[in-house]
This record gives sequence, C-alpha cells and structure tokens, in this order.
Amino acid sequence: PTTHPAQRIAVIGGGIGGLAAALAAARAGRPVTVFEQAAQFGEIGAGLQLAPNASHALDELGVLPAVRHSAVAPHRLAMMDALTGNEIATLDLRGEAYRARFTHPYLVTHRTDLHTALLNACHDDDLLTLRTGYTVTDAQQDTNGVTLAFAEPDHSAFTADAVIAADGLHSRLRQALVGDGDPICSRYVAYRGTIPTARMTGPMSKLAATSAVMVWAGPRMHLVQYPLRRGELYNQVAVFESDHYTPDSDDWGTEAELEHRFADTCSTVRDALPLVGRDRRWPLYDRDPLVTWTHGRITLLGDAAHPMLQYLAQGACQALEDAVTLGRALAHHDDTATAFTAYGNARRDRAARIQTNARSFGEICHLEGMGATLRNLHLGGRDPHDFDDIAWVWTPTSEPAAAAPRLHAPA
Ligand code: FAD
Repeated sequence: PTTHPAQRIAVIGGGIGGLAAALAAARAGRPVTVFEQAAQFGEIGAGLQLAPNASHALDELGVLPAVRHSAVAPHRLAMMDALTGNEIATLDLRGEAYRARFTHPYLVTHRTDLHTALLNACHDDDLLTLRTGYTVTDAQQDTNGVTLAFAEPDHSAFTADAVIAADGLHSRLRQALVGDGDPICSRYVAYRGTIPTARMTGPMSKLAATSAVMVWAGPRMHLVQYPLRRGELYNQVAVFESDHYTPDSDDWGTEAELEHRFADTCSTVRDALPLVGRDRRWPLYDRDPLVTWTHGRITLLGDAAHPMLQYLAQGACQALEDAVTLGRALAHHDDTATAFTAYGNARRDRAARIQTNARSFGEICHLEGMGATLRNLHLGGRDPHDFDDIAWVWTPTSEPAAAAPRLHAPA
C-alpha cells in the first residue's frame, strides 16, 4: 500500500482494540506509534467469546489463523436454567444452517492468546512502533496535528497527524473530549478465571469434555462456562447483582454475596462455583451511547467509544469491527480527519444498538419468577438452527467505503 509519511497516527492504549486499530491503520499504509501505559503489553482476565463478526474482522486483519491455532470452535451455545438445570434453548454453531448464514467461525479464546496474536502481527509490521510505559495525560490538537503529553517526566511530547484513543472504559481522552463523567455501574459484579481441564473431576469433567458454551441463567445471576486453549483450560465467569452496591467503594459484590446468590442453583452450577476464580472481583460498567466519536484529529475506538455490558459478549468483537472499518476508511481517504469522521459515522449506530441491547439481554438472563417462566417458554420452542434474532449482531457492519480495497495483510 502507499505510505503517507507525514500522516503518522498515534494510538493510545495497547489492548485488543488499540492493537487491532494500529494494525488496521498500518495495513492502510499509515505509520503508527502505539503508546501503552503498562510496563508490558498484556491482557488480564480469562476467556473471550468471538462471534463470527469478530472472526471476520480478524481474518481481514490477517490474524485469524494465529488465533484459530489455540482457540476452540464450540459446537453449540446453550442457555440453561440455573435453578432447575433444564436446557432452555440451544444454537448449533457448526451445522449447515450456521455455515449458510455466517462466513466465519464462532470461537472462544484466551484473552492472552488473542492479544499475543495481534501483538506478534504488530511486531512484524514495519510501519508500526510499539511503546510501553507511556501514560498519555493530554492531547492538544491544532491545524498541524495532535501533541501528546505523558505522565513520565523523561518522555518528551510526541506530535502525530492524528490520534486513535483506545484507552478503554475509563478513557482519559473521552473525558477530555466528551466529558460525560464516570462510567455507569450496573451493580453487577463478575468473578472469573480458568482451571486446567485435566484437574476437573466428577460431573465437571463431563462438561469440560464437550466444546459447548454454557450460559446458566438465574435470578439476578448467571454462570458462563466454556473450554479454552485447545481444550486445555476451562473458563468460568460467575456474575450477580449485589444488594450492597456503594459508589466509590470495593465493599460490595463480595465472595459471601456470591455464595448467597448462587445458593439455590442446581447441583451442576453449585459444583462449579468453588472452581470459579476468586482472586479479583470485576464490577460491571457501561455508558450511554455516544453520538460523536470523532473530534477533529482525534477519534475514539473500542471501550473508549462504546463500553458495553458483556451480556452479548460483544465488547471486544465491536472493537475489532471498529478497527477494520477505521482501516478501510484510512485506505479510502487520504485526509485522516475525513477518514475518522467516515469511520465514526459508519460505526456509531450499530455499536449503540449493541450497547443498549446488551443491557436488555442481561435483564432477560436475570429474570426471576413469572418473568423467567415466560422467558423459558418463549425461547424453549426455538429451533437450534434459527439465527434470526442474533444474526444482526453476528454479521459485521456494512462498510462505509464499499469501494475501498480490503486491507491487505502481508502473506
Ligand atoms: P482495554 O482492554 O481496556 O484496553 C485499554 C488499554 O489502554 C489498556 O491496555 C490500558 O492500560 C491502556 N491505557 C488506558 N489509559 C491509558 C493512557 N492514559 N495512556 C496509555 N495507555 C492507556 N467482549 C467480547 O467481545 N466477548 C466476550 O466474551 C467478552 N466477555 C467479557 C466478560 C467480562 C466479565 C468483561 C468485563 C468484559 C467482556 N468483554 C467481552 C468486553 C471486552 O473485554 C472489552 O470490550 C475489550 O477488552 C475492550 O478492549 P479495549 O482495547 O477497547 O480496552
């Protein structure tokens, strides 16, 4: 691709969104520097579901084979009743109907494996420079470019043609540009982690032997389970609403509350609970959708643009879609600010719809009493090959610059 030496782009944040965006921008011919605050690139947390819209994006970025190397392609996605243990509904993720509808696989991966695949691809790209230990504190733009300031006194300011802010849920740049306050806490909290499959015994070993994604839905709680890393690890995420939410405090959503909320669940869920990671609790946040992602030479991407509750498992998937759309816009428009505007306009409605539907789907998962009964009745009659309700989420966004070439990954 043609290079634009004067149009260096700075990416703030080296998470999944930032690295994918850096890769997409470099593939579009732009020199890119990524600034990550941590001393080393990396991901914390456990598993990640990648719906076909995400594997489509990874394919476009040229990293799908590396991700597939360790990822699991689950054969089904099952919603179970956490109280009775009965199956509510299932979707067949490998059948003919799936393949007719979606071009790319449904995958589950360890976050580290995905992040490493992106990082390796970044290392291999001559247009990309990676910097760790750089905390961006300020970004000032004028007609010539954007000047970044850093918290570390030994790092001098950096001027770029334009900036992609992929600095996550608590984005400093979003605060500076949009100023919409703190993220919204849902009062739900997650405990999560992986265990070696080989160490799972009893009924749990049967679960681990299947490549299903299991979602156990119950009153104001749920448990998600799936295998990772060629089936060597088993991922579990227990989520519940706390009755003791207190703003600016860590004293709510405790392990004792976790035990209490899951006390009436079926034996399969209760057997799994002691094996759920407890070393850290993750309060769950989102924000209301944003109308404008791009402000002149600075644009937002990933959680910085559209943090969402994880109930549709789409946060990272949407960040990957962002990256591909942004890369295509950069390949299509020489002027970076024009490309950023085209990208934001193309992405914001879809991301907003997924943000708000993630909230609704969480409410459906967490119904109790009559609500849960009606949910189970409604979903119970569904054909495992009927993707009509979810296809819009799992189908990648339509592209802003349909005429633009696909991004070209090196062979
Ligand atoms: P982040 O991962 O937050 O990365 C931001 C990066 O910016 C970090 O590396 C940070 O250190 C850096 N940074 C921040 N500030 C600065 C600064 N000032 N200067 C320099 N660097 C900075 N999504 C899915 O698609 N599928 C799932 O199954 C799924 N499950 C989830 C389960 C849970 C429990 C949760 C909480 C989330 C889940 N998500 C899922 C959502 C997904 O994890 C996020 O949407 C995704 O990781 C966001 O990536 P990001 O790169 O935008 O932000």
